[in-house]
Amino acid sequence: MNKKNRIRKLAIMGGTFDPIHMGHLVTAEEVRHEFNVDEVLFVPTGHPPHKSHINMTTCEHRYLMTVLATAANPYFKVSRIEIEREGVTYTIDTIKELKRIYGEDVSLYFITGADAVHKILGWKESAELLQLCDFVAVTRPGYNKEDLMRKVKEINEKYETNIHFLEVPALAISSSDIRKRLMEMKPIKYLVPQEVENYIKKHALYDYKIHLTEDEKACMYDYVASKLSPKRYAHTRGVVEMALEYAKLNGIDYGETFIAALFHDIAKEITPKESLALCEKYEIELDDYERTHIHLAHGKIGAVILQRDWGISKPSILNAIKYHTLGRLNMTDLEKVIYLADMTEEGRSSYKGKEEIKHLAQYNLDRAMYKALVSSYNYITNILKQEAHPIINELIAYYKQFDISEH
Ligand code: NAP
Repeated sequence: MNKKNRIRKLAIMGGTFDPIHMGHLVTAEEVRHEFNVDEVLFVPTGHPPHKSHINMTTCEHRYLMTVLATAANPYFKVSRIEIEREGVTYTIDTIKELKRIYGEDVSLYFITGADAVHKILGWKESAELLQLCDFVAVTRPGYNKEDLMRKVKEINEKYETNIHFLEVPALAISSSDIRKRLMEMKPIKYLVPQEVENYIKKHALYDYKIHLTEDEKACMYDYVASKLSPKRYAHTRGVVEMALEYAKLNGIDYGETFIAALFHDIAKEITPKESLALCEKYEIELDDYERTHIHLAHGKIGAVILQRDWGISKPSILNAIKYHTLGRLNMTDLEKVIYLADMTEEGRSSYKGKEEIKHLAQYNLDRAMYKALVSSYNYITNILKQEAHPIINELIAYYKQFDISEH
């Protein structure tokens, strides 16, 4: 029996699956039962139109994890059609191809996250797409159902189509949360099938190293240049160059350093009024000193912008941006590198001690930090005649132990 006459009703589980988790599997099984379909076909995305690939795990890894996760269920199958398609992958092309494979009269149910419903009219050839298959919009607990139901009603009426809606409590699990847990070394057991956990660990997937192509780097440079004045952009390029040199000499990851350095001042030219508004919108916590010196919040705002506009959520990068102006206790080497590169890039005016800090940063980041902090403190109190943020005294007291020349 071929696929054409065996499968009458097919559910398509489209998603990035980065990684696939129990919530996806429970959803697929729930839809199979609810709509009485003959098979659920998991279709890992290739290059969807709405995503940057910088932060996405390769197609093959996502595909193999999906195969491992679904192997035990005879009703689940995995398809390579999207990952093998050249260029950007659109759902309309997938649906047409599946109609060819399974026969024109097969009933298709496309399962996807509820957010997609709000955007679906913007998808390629959406009117035709809505005629070719039913959609099953799944929500996780806490999702605003009223807005969704309104939208579903509107689309169903306008296009005489069928968008169904299904609440799946197990979708409290999310791929982004799993990635975050892995980066924070928290357990993911029982959130993903054991085989998927083993695969992630074996390939060290989400303690990921960022590999940037030249095109991606050029794209990031253009974005940053569009947000900054020429002077600030020149400074930023100087920080990238200096930070990469320090990173290489101190054995720190290239991709992380590049991104943190390039985006460190992305929020620097945002007005004080807008900065306060952004802090409120994104619930960025400020201390009393930062509230009265709002320009100092640009690191924290910059980290949020990087995450919002580029989907980069790696804490090591975000923290290097967040703390590049004031520093913090227990700084990582990457945080120190960005702090020091910001103070010593070639374009920054010369000041007493700059060359020594540059020299030390090549092989002893802690000693360089001590010199840099003392220099900052002197500048703030003697030249600007301002009171320094209290953290600076704490950091000077801590890093003094590394200033062996003074013992
Ligand atoms: P996404 O933006 O990664 O996901 C958005 C939200 O929906 C996430 O919270 C995600 O949770 C959830 N979600 C996505 N797919 C799900 C599923 N099948 N079951 C349960 N939850 C799901 O969305 P995506 O995964 O990249 O895209 C979903 C599908 O829409 C893909 O097949 C994609 O190709 C298609 N799409 C097509 C177009 C187009 O043709 N123009 C545009 C956009 C998307 P998790 O992160 O936990 O999965």
